[in-house]
Amino acid sequence: MRYLLISLFFISTQLLGQFRSNYTPTYKEAIEYYERIAADHPSKAKLETIGKTDSGKPLHYLVIDPKGEFSPTASDKNEQTVVMIMNGIHPGEACGINASISFALQKAAEPKGDVVYVIIPIYNVGGALNRNSTSRANQNGPEEYGFRGNAKNLDLNRDFVKADSKNAFAFTRLFQLWKPHILIDTHTTNGADYQPNITLLSPFPEKLFPMQSTFLKREFEPYLYDYMKEINDEMIPYVNFRGNTPEDGIYAFIDHPRYSSGYAALFNTIGFTLEAHMLKSFDQRVASTLNFIAAVDKFASERGEVIRKIKAIADKETKKQESFYTKWQVNTAIDSLEFPGYETTMSKSILSGAEFIEYDSTKPYRRLVPYYNEVIGFYRSVVPKSYLIPQGWSEVIARLEANDVEMTRFDSDTVVTVTAKYVSYYETAETPYEGHYLHKNTGVVERKEQIQFFAGDVLISTEQLARRYLANTLDPQSEDSFFNWNFFDSVLNQKEYFSSYLFEKTAGEILERDHMLRRTLELKKSKDPSFADDAKAQLKFVYENSKYYEKGHLRLPVFEIR
Ligand SMILES: [Zn+2]
Repeated sequence: MRYLLISLFFISTQLLGQFRSNYTPTYKEAIEYYERIAADHPSKAKLETIGKTDSGKPLHYLVIDPKGEFSPTASDKNEQTVVMIMNGIHPGEACGINASISFALQKAAEPKGDVVYVIIPIYNVGGALNRNSTSRANQNGPEEYGFRGNAKNLDLNRDFVKADSKNAFAFTRLFQLWKPHILIDTHTTNGADYQPNITLLSPFPEKLFPMQSTFLKREFEPYLYDYMKEINDEMIPYVNFRGNTPEDGIYAFIDHPRYSSGYAALFNTIGFTLEAHMLKSFDQRVASTLNFIAAVDKFASERGEVIRKIKAIADKETKKQESFYTKWQVNTAIDSLEFPGYETTMSKSILSGAEFIEYDSTKPYRRLVPYYNEVIGFYRSVVPKSYLIPQGWSEVIARLEANDVEMTRFDSDTVVTVTAKYVSYYETAETPYEGHYLHKNTGVVERKEQIQFFAGDVLISTEQLARRYLANTLDPQSEDSFFNWNFFDSVLNQKEYFSSYLFEKTAGEILERDHMLRRTLELKKSKDPSFADDAKAQLKFVYENSKYYEKGHLRLPVFEIR
């Protein structure tokens, strides 16, 4: 409680001196605040920009470096731990915006330790500029805030792999420039009511390199939970109900690479998603968010050497790892969690007459609830020696480049024997999701083929830091693959076809020559009566198994050398 009071006092004197209670700064005010911090402490803090966001405005970031060097190379040389804090990905969830200003003020004034901070004041600039006071319908303050969608109406916390926004490209470049050890992404939650001010989503074990997972689960996480408990600001794991109430159980949330922490894990960065509770007062949410940042700060200062050493080992080993899990599901195994909730009652809707849940905050309880916290991988992506991508697929290549993927280009036209993958099965969502009709449950068949590559086409050796990222994006069967995100949809349509009345004769000639194909056709007819009755289907079958059928149909433009 003491720390909490100090925090609140700190905020009220230093931050709320500028910004009144229940108020979050506008985009302009926030940047001005950071400009002032950098101007007041030029040897410790530096405000920079990288790229542009979809709003047309740049992405700002403040570097706080006790050694005053402000560069990733120097921080590596100086053996400093890099912590990146991203705020306002959902600008309506503004507590991190305020908390980070307060934290930056404090750190720039008295920087200590071997931690370098890279703070993004507001990531979703377009959303922050779209200010209102109604779009967070259930949230308790602040009086005004930004909107969730960015300048292209994208939810940026689904955009880390597909990178449809300029924001994502700018962030990717910043992330790859600094390659942080820790990433904190600040949010405010929706949903149920319960006692704690904040909840934490952290990577599940199979997401990270084993040594890093063990360190996170046995030391880092317990430290953070204990720290918060000790200052009487209890934090619990992210609350994702299985049914309607806590008693139905809490379900693990799978942070696929499309989300910030899932993306961070691809590069051996420990990504925390912090969710302050929407029903607590805004000032309280700011204070709790600040408390969490202070907890990470303390742990990073005390245990920086281990954090850096483990990431260095993970980075080295990742370059050689044979395969990675790239699809996950919540296991049926049940643990339990002591949940500090509120009693619920059922009320009748005036609107529909149906029953709905109400929480009674005057009746707190602590009760063990079922906790489905085990996430298991169920598909392993085996990494080839190299990937080859024709240069025409420039959108994919641009994303690989932004992610620091090392690649070379063919300097002359070359024929290479590769493994080609053909899409054999996929399902497509019926409704759009973040500008895409996502595919899922993708299946492939593989064929060894000789493919003509041209000067400028791309060759990627997988023995590199981005190996896990490559497995997650280039293997079409991975959950968040570029195939599933529609980057290769043009191979799904046949470009050439045939006229039945002309191909009839050709088909007859083919079957005359190709006895094997004729036998296969007869066998299929005998086993499949509807096929036997369908003249068109039979003609198509012969066409698809002839030299006339286009080679590129369903063939993915990502080739492999095993
Ligand atoms: Zn959010």
